[in-house]
Formats: sequence, structure tokens, C-alpha cells
Amino acid sequence: MDMSYPAETESFRAEVRTVLAQELPPGWAGIGAIAGRGDAERFAARWRRALYRRGLLGITWPPEYGGRGLSPLHQVVLMEELARTGAPFGEHTDLFGIKMLGSTLLRWGTPEQRRRFLPRILSGEDRWCQGFSEPGAGSDLAALTTRARLDGTDWIIDGQKVWTSVAHRANWIFLLARTDPRARGHPGISFLLCPLDQPGVEIRPIRALTGDSDFNEVFFTGARTPADLVVGAPGEGWPVAMTLLGHERGEEAATNPILFRAELDRLLALAAERGRDHDPLIRQRLAWCYARVEVMRYLGYRILTQVQRPTEPAGTELGAAASVAKLYWSEYHVAATELALDIQGLDGLVPEGRGPLRAVRTDDPGAPNSSGSWLGAFLNARAGTIYAGTSEVQRNILAETVLGLPKEKRAHG
Ligand SMILES: Cc1cc2nc3c(=O)[nH]c(=O)nc-3n(C[C@H](O)[C@H](O)[C@H](O)COP(=O)(O)OP(=O)(O)OC[C@H]3O[C@@H](n4cnc5c(N)ncnc54)[C@H](O)[C@@H]3O)c2cc1C
Repeated sequence: MDMSYPAETESFRAEVRTVLAQELPPGWAGIGAIAGRGDAERFAARWRRALYRRGLLGITWPPEYGGRGLSPLHQVVLMEELARTGAPFGEHTDLFGIKMLGSTLLRWGTPEQRRRFLPRILSGEDRWCQGFSEPGAGSDLAALTTRARLDGTDWIIDGQKVWTSVAHRANWIFLLARTDPRARGHPGISFLLCPLDQPGVEIRPIRALTGDSDFNEVFFTGARTPADLVVGAPGEGWPVAMTLLGHERGEEAATNPILFRAELDRLLALAAERGRDHDPLIRQRLAWCYARVEVMRYLGYRILTQVQRPTEPAGTELGAAASVAKLYWSEYHVAATELALDIQGLDGLVPEGRGPLRAVRTDDPGAPNSSGSWLGAFLNARAGTIYAGTSEVQRNILAETVLGLPKEKRAHG
């Protein structure tokens, strides 16, 4: 496995390091080191503007839409450098706007849709959320029942979405809706773009285990969106949705080993601080964590090798390697954060200090070894085995695509 990066990405790395040195405040120790939640949020907003100003958002997009036309490996290098310094990758809605929707519009959007939306995603004027899951359609997404029908120049949308992360911070939603009521399964589903600020849309927060309300229910009651805001052909939104779900994995492969290694170092320090690093049972669990993070590094290399030498067209799934990686980090994280709570004992039940800004993956880089940080990470780790495809769904994918086991019967599609 040759993991050296080509020269052009290394010169880009030097450029990124210069920007980080110029833009990060003196004494920077990572976003987690900012004690107050409000201060950390405000820093993240300022930081996003700096990334935009320095041309470091959407770098793989064509210049005509505000990007720089760089390769996926350049994007990986950028994320590596951000992870290494503990700087945020963007703001809450950027995962959905830049990584998911932007990349999908480049593959499926009309020239008008690209011209209209891509620059506004980068500038932060349009902030997006993802309306796929419904109360009766999660893993079995094709069972969705939200409907849309054409009425003159508009789609009229009725139905409900759930677990819609950051909808309260967004002004647009991309959603899947059934536009052909006679079809079942994948056919007849359309991929629509819809403004949230209108009377037909209601957003209700859901309170999570952590006490935060990062996700929401979104109700559509006669909501309207223009007829031309369908991505792909009407009734043929399924492949568009699959492209969108495939746009995450290369960067995670690069950043996970950095983020999880930093978190493991904190865990080791916690065991030492609490005098638990001589306890043989704790040591055994720490050693298990160490081995897992190392394996994660090599799984990351495998995916990065695919990013460097793509065997599939851009935007398609990285397939089994991505499922293995997702399963691996999410289940590791449940065990590692449980260990952190065990090491703290009763103190772990009295959270001090803020928890993570986001519900995904590790706590914010640079976070102190506080009970609040570990409790937040412990609770969020549960969600890691659910979002972006549950552990059971990943195992089904591996059973079918790697082991060649017979496909299970599906209710839809
Ligand atoms: C933190 C978080 C953020 C999220 N953000 C968003 C978002 O922004 N937008 C959005 O659209 N959705 C979002 N989701 C929803 C997420 O995509 C769904 O929770 C996920 O797809 C699982 O669907 P479900 O919750 O309906 O569970 P279900 O699909 O009902 O699954 C329930 C249980 O049954 C198991 N199961 C289901 N099918 C099978 C099968 N075929 N074989 C074996 N076991 C099976 C599952 O693994 C799970 O254990 C988010 C979820 C979380 C936790």
C-alpha cells in the first residue's frame, strides 16, 4: 500500500497550513478548548467565513460555481489539516449543503439549478437540511409516504419528515417525496428542493438524550416549491438520493483516525489522572481501544487508496470498504466512551463543562478531560450506530456484497 501523497496535494497542504497559521487565533488549542458553548458557536461561524474568504470551501467544485476544480484527494488533505489543528470543518448545515447537496447537484442538477444554488451554498446564504427519514421509513427508505403533486407551476407537498438534523438552522430542505401515487418502492419517488420559510412548513424540535435539540420533525401541509426544483427526472429521484448518500466517505477515512486517536490520548490521560491505569481490566480495555484505532487507520488507508485511484465513477458508493469503516468506528466509539464513564466512576454522572457542539463522531478536538465532554460523547456515540445507515443495515450490505449471502426479502423496492 503506497500512502504517499502526490506532489501537487503536498503543495496544497503547505498552502492550507499557511492559511491556518494566519487565520487561527494565537494559542489556538482546538474548538473544544473554547469553554462556553455560545463562544464556540460564534467562533465556528467566524471560522466558516474565513474558510470561504480564503477559497477553502467546495474546493472540488468547478470555478464557475465558486470552487477551485481540485481533486477529491485535495479535499482529503484539507480535512486532514483541519482535523489536525482541531479547527471546525464548516458550520452545522455544511455537511448537508456542501458535502451532500452541492456534490449531488454537480452530478444531477440542471445548469440553472447549479448556477442558482451552488454559489449560495458556499457563501452561506442558503443553508440546507436533509428530509429523507419519516416515522415509517428509515432503513426502509423507499416506504416513504410524503406526497408531492404538480399544481400548475408548483409542487404541493404533504407529509412528515423526522430526525431532520439542523432544520432549525436551515432555510432550505432537500427531500424525497412520492410523486407517482400508483408506483411502489423506488420508482415514483422524486428528489425535491423546497424553501423552509413558508406557511406550509412547520419545524418542531426533538430533544435528544444529551438535552440538545439538534434534530427535528418537519411537517409539510400544502407546502409549495416551484416545478423546476426537482433534481433528476420526476419519479426518478432514487438514484439521485443514492448519489447523495455516497458523498461522505473518503474524508471520514482521513479524519477519523486523527480524531479518534486524539480522543484515545485523552482517554489514556484520564485513566492516568484517575489512577486507573494500573487496573488490569481497565488496561485490557484501553489496549483494545488502541488496537481498534490502529485498525481504523489502516481501514482509512484502504479507502484513501480508492480515492486516489478511483475504480468507480466519482460520487458512487465506495461500497464494502465504507460499510466496514462505518461499522468499525461507530461500534468502537460506543465501547470507548463507555470505558471513559467507567474510569470516572460516580464523577461521570455529574457533568461538568460543555458537551460536543455536534452530535456526530468524537467530541470537539481540544476538548478538556471533563465529565461533561465524556458524557456528551458517550450519549452521542449511541446515535453513531444509527445515522448514515444502522449497524444492522451495514451488516446486511456486507453479508450480501462481500460474503455473497442471499439478498433478504425487502418490503419495498
Ligand atoms: C443523530 C441522528 C441524525 C439524523 N439525521 C437525519 C437527517 O438529517 N435526515 C434524515 O433524513 N434522517 C436523519 N436521521 C435518521 C436516520 O437516517 C435513521 O434513524 C436511520 O436510517 C434508521 O431509521 P429508523 O430510525 O427509522 O430505524 P428503523 O429503520 O425503524 O430501524 C429500527 C431497528 O431495526 C433494524 N433494522 C431495520 N431494518 C433492518 C433489516 N432489514 N435487517 C436487520 N435489521 C434491521 C435497525 O438496524 C434498527 O436497529 C438521523 C438519525 C440520527 C440518530
